[in-house]
Amino acid sequence: SPSQRSTGALFSLANRVALVTGGHRGIGLEIALGFAEAGAVVYCLDLPSSPDESWRMVQSWAASLPEPNSGRLEYVSGDVTDQKAMWEVVEKIVEKEGRIDVCMANAGIVHVAECLEYPAEDFKRVMDVNVSGVLFTAQAAGQQMERLGIPGSIIMTASMSGTITNPNQHSSAYNISKSAVLQLARSMACELAPKGIRVNTISPGYIYTDMTRSILDTQPQPASLKEKLGAQNPMGRFGRPDELRGAALWLASDGATFCTGSDIKVDGGQCAW
Ligand code: NAD
Repeated sequence: SPSQRSTGALFSLANRVALVTGGHRGIGLEIALGFAEAGAVVYCLDLPSSPDESWRMVQSWAASLPEPNSGRLEYVSGDVTDQKAMWEVVEKIVEKEGRIDVCMANAGIVHVAECLEYPAEDFKRVMDVNVSGVLFTAQAAGQQMERLGIPGSIIMTASMSGTITNPNQHSSAYNISKSAVLQLARSMACELAPKGIRVNTISPGYIYTDMTRSILDTQPQPASLKEKLGAQNPMGRFGRPDELRGAALWLASDGATFCTGSDIKVDGGQCAW
């Protein structure tokens, strides 16, 4: 017989607790806002720095959430490459909130250099943040979900660059790291399915954030390069960070309880082209 559960309830994150890494700006911040608006208490973790202007705006937005929405945002600092620290961060969240339901392992960096000259230190740093950092984040949350018997959702931010390559991009370490994230998620999904924990990835295409701005700004004509890169997908434009909210919310919610080991591409069709 048809389910009696309303679609609204299916997508609600009321009484859920989430962690979003790289959550102080860009894609992570938008996803955190989406989770909070759906009712979750969201811990936004990022490298230690004083809260910037966008974070202050976020705080005032969160304070204006309509009642009875229980959603709120909490500011946490930490480095995803520190395995012990990530364990402690999640332990503190669980001590305070009693649970963790959603883990968005989103923090990532990019470094541009040609393959034949890629500096060892930069290669290692990209792998540390984008691969080890995602693993350590997912481990910390997954262990607590398992201990508490919570049917949690772990979501990792991969990239279309984990699936396709652009020869002019000179970001081989980044591409390799994102392929590793796709495979990490599939491996973890299979291991954690019997424990009721789901693991999926989102692969964004070109999204206009500080990360992409930092690359564009190194070029002589950033505006024309942006246009050129945007034209590389069938929709002919860059994506906005808020366009990632829906995929993340779906994967986090009870709307996706039979979905694990999957990759959702949010790339304007670039991987399909
Ligand atoms: P962004 O640079 O705007 O934000 C990334 C955040 O991660 C920053 O706030 C940064 O401080 C944080 N971070 C970096 N290293 C960290 C560490 N060691 N510990 C904790 N936090 C750390 O980038 P974004 O565009 O919002 O990217 C978010 C994710 O999406 C990344 O994984 C990125 O690779 C991925 N992605 C982005 C695009 C794009 O076009 N912007 C495309 C595909 C995938």
